[in-house]
Amino acid sequence: MHAQVYLDHQASTPLDPRVLEAMLPFLGPKFGNAASRSHRFGWEAEKAVELARRQVAALAGARPREIVFTSGATESDNLALKGIAAAYREHGNHIVTVSTEHRAVLDPARSLARGGMRLTVLDPEPDGRLNLEKLRAAIRPETVLVSVMYANNEIGVIQPIRQIAALCHEMGTLFHSDSAQAFGKVPIDVDAEGIDLMSVSAHKMYGPKGVGALYVRRPKVRLAPQLEGGGQEFGIRSGTLNVPAIVGFGSAAALAADEMAVEAGHDRALRDRLLSRLHAGLDGVTVNGSLAHRLPGNLNVSFAGVDSESLLMSLTDIACSTGSACSTASVEPSHVLRAIGLGQSQARSSVRFGIGRFNTEDEMDYAANRIVEAVRKLRQLSPQNKAVSEFPAPGVL
Ligand SMILES: *Cc1c(COP(=O)(O)O)cnc(C)c1O
Repeated sequence: MHAQVYLDHQASTPLDPRVLEAMLPFLGPKFGNAASRSHRFGWEAEKAVELARRQVAALAGARPREIVFTSGATESDNLALKGIAAAYREHGNHIVTVSTEHRAVLDPARSLARGGMRLTVLDPEPDGRLNLEKLRAAIRPETVLVSVMYANNEIGVIQPIRQIAALCHEMGTLFHSDSAQAFGKVPIDVDAEGIDLMSVSAHKMYGPKGVGALYVRRPKVRLAPQLEGGGQEFGIRSGTLNVPAIVGFGSAAALAADEMAVEAGHDRALRDRLLSRLHAGLDGVTVNGSLAHRLPGNLNVSFAGVDSESLLMSLTDIACSTGSACSTASVEPSHVLRAIGLGQSQARSSVRFGIGRFNTEDEMDYAANRIVEAVRKLRQLSPQNKAVSEFPAPGVL
């Protein structure tokens, strides 16, 4: 028996033990409220939060006072869309986004549309990237926000962020990017890239769950708070700060800043190793979305003629998924794969492999062998895939 191989890093990442180490005192003796100004417990907590704020800001190329801590990227996305829509109501009532966005962007956008906001949802090109001319044509004088994710959570495709931001600014609108998948994985500089608002999440970068941030460009961007109360986080997001989680987020950001380049090389090498082994062992393996413009640790492939749910069920010791962990309750095939033009059957034969910090070459070889074996078996069982199963089996096993 091989231990479970974790290949679902786009759903969540393991907590780095160094991050846990940094958090522990704040789950124990350092329990103060960061807003308590009258004693050492509060000062200690506040000092730790401000260090974390500097660490997160540094990774984004931002100023600490532009980082608003939240409960995660879902909250940050909601705050960005709803907060901008409300703050810029007199300027316009139109938002532009893309059909491959995470539901944490699409659902608040639709909810704003039900409230009278105008919404344009653009389809990407078949490689998963947004066409800039289509974006230009969609932006109107009354557009207050364009929201385009940095990297997709299912297919890992990275958008041309600089060009998108430049176009938004040329046309006089703000630019928000859900960067939950990209932050800590690829270098991001909000100034150089022209990002006005950016959503990030700690648990996608080896930090704890339930904490994230919204980067808000100051003083340019105004934002209507969506949670009101004690006035924490510059009055933009009230609520007692989750100090241990924020400390962990800061620590994860500092580690990412130090190790990103090496880690990207590691993840990409393992990803390419897995893919080349799948190609060597199987016919009918197609990568979904651009391979060139992609997160180093993401692979999303279709196995012709194989139902992905059946494949996952036979891969009991490989943790991977058919797409978004957030919409797994639905039986619909992935909205992302459909948006890049995959038919029902191809979308239903796709699996996402997310590779990360602690994976090894040995795990890639083991996973590749298990996948090749399982796909061959399923193809033999399935009569409609005779054409595929008739290929002679290459001898890699
Ligand atoms: C995970 C993810 C989210 C949601 O983040 P949470 O912190 O889990 O709320 C939003 N957008 C993208 C692209 C994600 O990958």
